[in-house]
Amino acid sequence: MPFNLLKYGLSSEYPVEVDLPPPKELKSSYDVVIIGAGGHGLATAYYLAKYHGITNIAVLEKSYLGGGNTARNTAVIRSNYLTSEGVRFYAESVRMFQSLSNEFDFNIMYSERGQLTLAHTDATVRSFRQRAEVNKHFGGRTEMIDRQQIRELVPSLNLDPGHLPVIASTAPPRAMTRWPGVMPNKPPSAAWKSISSPKSRT
Ligand SMILES: Cc1cc2nc3c(=O)[nH]c(=O)nc-3n(C[C@H](O)[C@H](O)[C@H](O)COP(=O)(O)OP(=O)(O)OC[C@H]3O[C@@H](n4cnc5c(N)ncnc54)[C@H](O)[C@@H]3O)c2cc1C
Repeated sequence: MPFNLLKYGLSSEYPVEVDLPPPKELKSSYDVVIIGAGGHGLATAYYLAKYHGITNIAVLEKSYLGGGNTARNTAVIRSNYLTSEGVRFYAESVRMFQSLSNEFDFNIMYSERGQLTLAHTDATVRSFRQRAEVNKHFGGRTEMIDRQQIRELVPSLNLDPGHLPVIASTAPPRAMTRWPGVMPNKPPSAAWKSISSPKSRT
């Protein structure tokens, strides 16, 4: 039972302070050394601990935890990529994100909203269509939608900005966001939690 989710769900204050382990003296050896405490490095450490019982891990970070791309991205979680490997890899990532709040007992503010990626040229429409078809071929749900459908979904959107009108859009229906996309000097929530989870401490 994710008690913290319940506790903070009923509270008017959000717990921004996270109990991170203090820096430790380096040991002379580790089973695994990971360079870079971004999403990839931290997730690797977390899943090595969770699924493989490997906890003697050092994650070396030259700056602050999660402070690279991981703290600066737009926090969109989606599966609308172009290669067969990419489609399946990201579809599985999206599925995993859906249960991370429960797994961490920490609200990562996962929120499904969908996403439109707008095409302004015929060349972009062609590449988006290819992407949508590859996605569908491998079981994804990215659709192409036209101007009228965009207008119905987002009536306030200006479809004729300057010299390049919006022609069409891709619309993966299960795109979602997590919190925070950008937060100065704070690693993002999923990264925070993957390093503060007791099993993954090194
Ligand atoms: C503006 C922007 C928007 C984005 N939007 C999205 C999005 O919406 N959705 C999405 O899925 N992806 C998005 N991305 C991509 C995504 O953020 C990255 O693919 C992902 O964060 C990369 O994670 P990482 O762990 O590989 O790298 P990083 O998060 O960059 O982590 C690398 C870490 O390694 C550290 N490091 C580097 N060299 C050394 C060294 N020699 N010794 C010790 N530490 C070192 C760095 O300080 C850093 O903390 C976006 C990226 C950017 C820049």
